[in-house]
Amino acid sequence: MSDHRTPPTTPIPSNFLRNIIERDLQQGLYATKHHAGSPGDARHHAAGPLDPARIRTRFPPEPNGYLHIGHAKSICLNFGLARDYGGVCHMRFDDTNPEKESQEFVDSILDAVSWLGFGWHSELGGQSQDHLYFASNYFDTMYAAAEFLIQGGHAYVDEQTPEQIRAGRGTLTEAGTDSPYRNRSRAENLARFRAMRDGAFEDGAMVLRARIDMAAPNINLRDPAIYRIRRAHHHNTGNRWCIYPMYTFAHPIEDALEGITHSICTLEFEDQRPFYDWLLTRLSESITPPITTPEGTELPALLTAPLPRQYEFARLNLSYVVTSKRKLKALVDDGHVQGWDDPRLPTLVGLRRRGYTPESIQLFCERIGVSKADSWIDYSSLEIALRDDLDAKAARCMAVLDPVELVLGNWAEIYSAEHREPCSAPSHPAHPEMGQRAFTLGPRLWIERDDFMEAPSKGYHRLYPGNKVRLKYGFVVECTGCEKDASGQIVRVLANIVPDTRSGTPGAENIKVKGVITWVGADDGVAAEVRLFDRLYTQAQPEAGGADHLASLNPNSKRVVQGWVEPSLAQAPAGSAFQFERLGYFVADRLDHQPGLKAVFNRTTTLRDSWGK
Ligand code: ATP
Ligand code: MG
Repeated sequence: MSDHRTPPTTPIPSNFLRNIIERDLQQGLYATKHHAGSPGDARHHAAGPLDPARIRTRFPPEPNGYLHIGHAKSICLNFGLARDYGGVCHMRFDDTNPEKESQEFVDSILDAVSWLGFGWHSELGGQSQDHLYFASNYFDTMYAAAEFLIQGGHAYVDEQTPEQIRAGRGTLTEAGTDSPYRNRSRAENLARFRAMRDGAFEDGAMVLRARIDMAAPNINLRDPAIYRIRRAHHHNTGNRWCIYPMYTFAHPIEDALEGITHSICTLEFEDQRPFYDWLLTRLSESITPPITTPEGTELPALLTAPLPRQYEFARLNLSYVVTSKRKLKALVDDGHVQGWDDPRLPTLVGLRRRGYTPESIQLFCERIGVSKADSWIDYSSLEIALRDDLDAKAARCMAVLDPVELVLGNWAEIYSAEHREPCSAPSHPAHPEMGQRAFTLGPRLWIERDDFMEAPSKGYHRLYPGNKVRLKYGFVVECTGCEKDASGQIVRVLANIVPDTRSGTPGAENIKVKGVITWVGADDGVAAEVRLFDRLYTQAQPEAGGADHLASLNPNSKRVVQGWVEPSLAQAPAGSAFQFERLGYFVADRLDHQPGLKAVFNRTTTLRDSWGK
C-alpha cells in the first residue's frame, strides 16, 4: 500500500488538473471541511479532529471486466494526485449495473490496482482507514435522494414506453416534448415510485425521470432517467432491489457522500457535467419536511458545500490494441486469446504476465501526461518505457531460440574430450552487486541458426566457412563448414577453436574479429519453452472508420519455440525478468514456469523497436 506522504520520486510535469488543484488549495477551499471517509464515519461524528487541507479523488471502475492500460492512466492520475497533494484516493466500485458485474471482477480489479503500486489506506488525523467503497452500499441513500427529488418536484414516474420516451427526447436541432406523465402530483409520483420499489410493476414498465427541461439544448438535461426496474441478482445486494439507479444519477451522489473534491473522468462525460451539477445542487437545497436517510441523516445535510466538481481529461487511445472491457471480454469469451491474462492483451493481468513491471506502466503514464485533447499513443511508447525500466533491473543471460548445433572439431586436441571450460559473466554489466553467472563451454553448443550462412551476404560477419568469430565470454572459433540432412537442411555447423584466444587472457587481445555470437552449452544448457508475441492486431487503429476489430486480428501474434537457456535460469523464480543477450527482454512465466522442473519464458519485448520492419 502506498503511503500518501511519500514524495514523488521524480519531478512530475504539471498539467491542467494539477493547476486546478493547486489553485483550489491556495484558495483554502478544502481547508476546514470535515471530510468523512465514508458516509458511515466522520460525517456522523462532526466533532472529530479538524482536517488540514485535503483533496479527495476516486478511481471508480465498474466491476464488469478486468482493468486495462487505459484504466492505468486513470489510476496513476487519481492515486498520483492524491499522493502528491497529501490527499486520499478512494477505491470505489461503481456497481449499479447488476447483470454484468461479478465478484471475480471486483477481486481482479483490487489486485490490479495494488499490483500497480497504489493503495486506498490512509492515516489522516490520527485515524487509520481503508477507503474501499461500493456504490451498491449507498442504494438506500440513493433511493432516499430520489424520493427527495420527487418531493421537491424534481422527478416523476414516466409510464411511457421506451420508444415513446426516446421519440419525445427530440434531436440536436429540435426540442423534446413533455411526457403526459410530467405534471403528476408529487404525492402520486411518490406512491408510484414506492410501488416500483416494492415490485408492483414489470421490468421496463416505467422509469423515474429527473424533471428538468425538455427544451434544454443539452439533451442530457431533457429529463434523464434516474431509476429503472430491473429484476437482477446483484453481486453485493443480492435480490434486495428490483429497481436500480442509473449511472449518471448514482455517480454524483457517490462522490458527494464520500466528500470527493475532484471527480476526474474521461471526456465523453463532459456533456453530463451540467446534470452532475444540477443533481448535487438540487440535493443540497432544503425541502420541508426533510427526508431522513437510513443512516439517520437528514437530506440535504448530507451534501454540504463545497460540492464535488467534475473535470474531464482525454482517455488513452493506444495503437494496436482495443481498450474497452466489453471488447476485451469478447476476445476472451470467443477464444481469440487464452484468457484475460493472455500476454497479448492490454489488460493489466496480461501485461503483467507478459513481463511488464508496475514501474514501467507508471513511467509510461507519467510520460504520456494528461490533457484535454484526444490523441493516439503509439504502442512503441509503452515498450520504450518498459525497456527503460528493465534495462537497469533485468539480469543478463544467453539463450538460443532457433537452435542449431555447433561442433568444435579440435576440442579434444586442445583440451581433452572430457574437459569443460568454466565461464562466467556479470549478471549485469553496470551492476556488479548483482553478481556473476556461471556456465561451461564444451565441444558441442547451441547457436542461433541465423548466426551461420553457407554463402554469406555482404556485410555478414558471423559464421561462414573460413571466417572467425568470438563465442561471447569464450574464445574465437574458425568456421570449417556444415553438415546437412537428406533434405538439405543444415543440421550441424563445424568450427575449430583458435588457440590462445580465451576472453580475459592476454591472447584475447592479439586477435581481432568482427563478429561476436551468443551461445548455450549443449551439456549444461536448459531446454526452455519460449513464447514469442507480436502485436495482436495488424492495424494500428483496429476500429478506424467503424471497422470490426476482429477483422484485423494478427494471425501470427503468438509463436511458441523450443530453445535453450543458460543453466543459471533453471532455478529462476516465476515472474523474474531477464535480458536474453541480443534477443530481448523475457520473463519466466508467472503460471507455467516451474523452477528446476520446467522452464517457460515469455518474450516481453525485443531489444529495439522492430515493428514494421
Ligand atoms: P471500459 O469501456 O473499458 O469498460 P469504462 O470507462 O466504461 O471503460 P470504467 O470501469 O467505468 O470503465 O472505468 C473506470 C475509470 O477508468 C473511469 O473513470 C474511466 O474514465 C477510466 N478509463 C477507462 N478507460 C480509460 C482510458 N482508455 N483512458 C483513460 N481512462 C480510462
Ligand atoms: Mg464501461
